[in-house]
Amino acid sequence: MKLVINNLSKTYSNGVRALNQVSLKLNNGLFGLLGPNGAGKSSLMRTIATLQEADSGSILLDDLDVLRNKTDVRQLLGYLPQDFGVYPKISAERLLDHIALLKGVGNTAERKALVDAMLAQVNLYTERKKQLGTFSGGMKQRFGIAQALIGNPRLIIVDEPTAGLDPAERNRFYNLLSQMGENTIVILSTHIVEDVSTLCSNFAIISQGEVRYWGEPDDAVKAL
Ligand code: ADP
Ligand code: ADP
Repeated sequence: MKLVINNLSKTYSNGVRALNQVSLKLNNGLFGLLGPNGAGKSSLMRTIATLQEADSGSILLDDLDVLRNKTDVRQLLGYLPQDFGVYPKISAERLLDHIALLKGVGNTAERKALVDAMLAQVNLYTERKKQLGTFSGGMKQRFGIAQALIGNPRLIIVDEPTAGLDPAERNRFYNLLSQMGENTIVILSTHIVEDVSTLCSNFAIISQGEVRYWGEPDDAVKAL
């Protein structure tokens, strides 16, 4: 896959200019978005995830015009928002099954196998029948990762995914991400420089809605 973002701008109704002529090109693999709080990372990710309109600019996923083909994009997308919240009364396995169905996994037995494997990978298999409302913060975060990765998404967007994970869980998550298919773009926002230097083949630094740096995490990022 290839994602091409061209001159994307967004000013909220309160006058905050969250994105200012953002242009980036992303290829398959892990792409890191680094930047301080309020830099515009979530705004950029929500826009790519078709959950928010831009004022101007364009986003192409291969030949697909992302801002004008929301339904098609959502089929290909796995998204973990920063403020991930779910309906508390549904069980982990039911919600994952539902998401896998939305992603086009039509066969019930196939879905069950997928759901079980995914829950095992985030260490929630034994909790699979529990309602999400009973989950701790860390369990919710791991569930959030599972729902973003299930169903073979070609574009994975994870907003501060390692917040709330302990070092062992973070390593597990790194392993999961590095197992994603070859033909997949993963966009990861973080303010942990180590996430980028360990995982990402490319990254950008964003501040005040503008791209300040874009390249490979070489000595420049290690020196940050
Ligand atoms: P838009 O300009 O896209 O219409 P709004 O200003 O109507 O956006 O806000 C959309 C949502 O974002 C509302 O639920 C609002 O409470 C929330 N919101 C408003 N200001 C902020 C902020 N500074 N940071 C995060 N969320 C905000
Ligand atoms: P980051 O993810 O890098 O912390 P955000 O994209 O959340 O940055 O926010 C960028 C700027 O836009 C901040 O100043 C934030 O307060 C503001 N902002 C974010 N969402 C909204 C919203 N819905 N309405 C108004 N302002 C917002």
